Amino acid sequence: MTQSSGNSECKGCNINLLVIFINNEWHESTSGKKFPTYNPSTLEKICDIEEGDKPDVDNAVEAAKAAFQRGSPWRQMDALSRGRLLHKLADLLERDRVILATLETMDTGKPFLQAYFIDLEGCIKTLRYYAGWADKIQGRTIPVDENFVCFTRHEPMGVCGAITPWNFPLLMLVWKMAPALCCGNTLVIKPAEQTPLTSLYIGSLIKEVGFPPGVVNIVPGYGPTAGAAISTHHNIDKIAFTGSTKVGKLIKEAASKSNLKRVTLELGGKNPCIVCADADLDLAVECAHQGVFFNQGQCCTAASRVFVEEQIYPEFVKRSVEYAKKRLVGDPFDARTEQGPQIDQKQFDKILELIESGKKEGAKLECGGLAIEDRGLFIKPTVFSEVTDNMRIAKEEIFGPVQPIMKFKSIEEVIRRANSTEYGLTAAVFTKNLDRALTLASALQSGTVWINCYNALYAQAPFGGFKMSGNGRELDKYGTLAGDTGIHPKPPLSLCGGIWASLAPTWTCLHL
Ligand code: ADP
Repeated sequence: MTQSSGNSECKGCNINLLVIFINNEWHESTSGKKFPTYNPSTLEKICDIEEGDKPDVDNAVEAAKAAFQRGSPWRQMDALSRGRLLHKLADLLERDRVILATLETMDTGKPFLQAYFIDLEGCIKTLRYYAGWADKIQGRTIPVDENFVCFTRHEPMGVCGAITPWNFPLLMLVWKMAPALCCGNTLVIKPAEQTPLTSLYIGSLIKEVGFPPGVVNIVPGYGPTAGAAISTHHNIDKIAFTGSTKVGKLIKEAASKSNLKRVTLELGGKNPCIVCADADLDLAVECAHQGVFFNQGQCCTAASRVFVEEQIYPEFVKRSVEYAKKRLVGDPFDARTEQGPQIDQKQFDKILELIESGKKEGAKLECGGLAIEDRGLFIKPTVFSEVTDNMRIAKEEIFGPVQPIMKFKSIEEVIRRANSTEYGLTAAVFTKNLDRALTLASALQSGTVWINCYNALYAQAPFGGFKMSGNGRELDKYGTLAGDTGIHPKPPLSLCGGIWASLAPTWTCLHL
């Protein structure tokens, strides 16, 4: 490992952002390769980053393994002190909130105010939530047969890998890092290649907080190289991934072909948003709009199949179009902007191709449907009505600012159609009828069902999917448990469904 001379320091914040973080030190890549990261608003290169690959992941795992050794400073640290470090990290995120939100906006194109008030708020609250858990993780005493005392201890699993996506780069990192550290694990993190900046900044804060060297290691790089080196690694005990279903399958396969490491996956969604005729229409229109257009439509929770009961269908479509036409698209650093650019050319092209398929397959284009000319990766907020279940825009994850609106006649019909997908991440129901709300909440095959709200996500409630939307749960106490329990925790009302897998119970019997 060569330690960087530090000649790539970020002007203004005096922190070296561009290199690989191992053992609380900044390193150049073993191969000497670098990769660029771009600002999707301007299409300009922000900077070059050291490109990690297998040898760098090996170095990071070696550091993480050494930090986890019995008797190491991290293993000897008491739980309260682990919690205190997480609180201190939250304090530093509060201190550097403007810098982090600015970096996130430059790297992702999301509106600055969203990065500041939603992403950073979620990170800080998640760190504080798990800081509080650190000294409250308890086993049980169990009255077994005969004259034995039996108790369980919850032990950290060891070296955890975290592979994160580009849509909420910092928030998804914190969702994985906070429970893992709270339980006493060590980490090797690979941020998405499109958006590595905030994750690397976190490295500098980890060092400043005083986490022992090797506890958190960050290796930027590409998926098939650095990412695959994590998922196939024999000395990584657990992996947590957020991203596409396609890559989720590769990670599970790699885990099973290597060392059977435990895997938590948070994958795609094609989430039904069901609006009944008795709903508060203003609320339903606004929530469905925010539910699909939030974060440029780049959300696994996106409300990308809106089912509206036929009596109110024309009015719902009319109001949704009015909302979409008013949505302000532009410079993410302008406080009025509601929608920035898509993340990159690949996603931009995919979205426009799906929009074209909607037009060809007979959906009615109500507004949008095009890129904004001369403006790089910006797409007009798009609404389709008269959408049927067999159309690609009703089946495939679009991950862009496109709202397909369908019609339904009966509750039984909409349950069947809503569940007729390989995904099962979230669902939403709008109705004033409690009986109907509860019937739908239990019938919908989704990890989360929101009633009369959307994207209500909190650190205190678990989040994760049914079916091909993933395995395990993040956030909540579930976020501290190991592996898949075989049940799907599903909060019935309003909130969300999480297992991060960091604790392995150890059974101990003592003969008295
Ligand atoms: P998207 O298609 O939206 O870019 P991905 O699922 O490809 O989403 O990416 C999510 C994360 O998975 C990124 O950090 C990416 O680098 C990583 N990744 C991509 N391919 C692989 C792979 N073969 N093995 C491990 N990680 C990967």
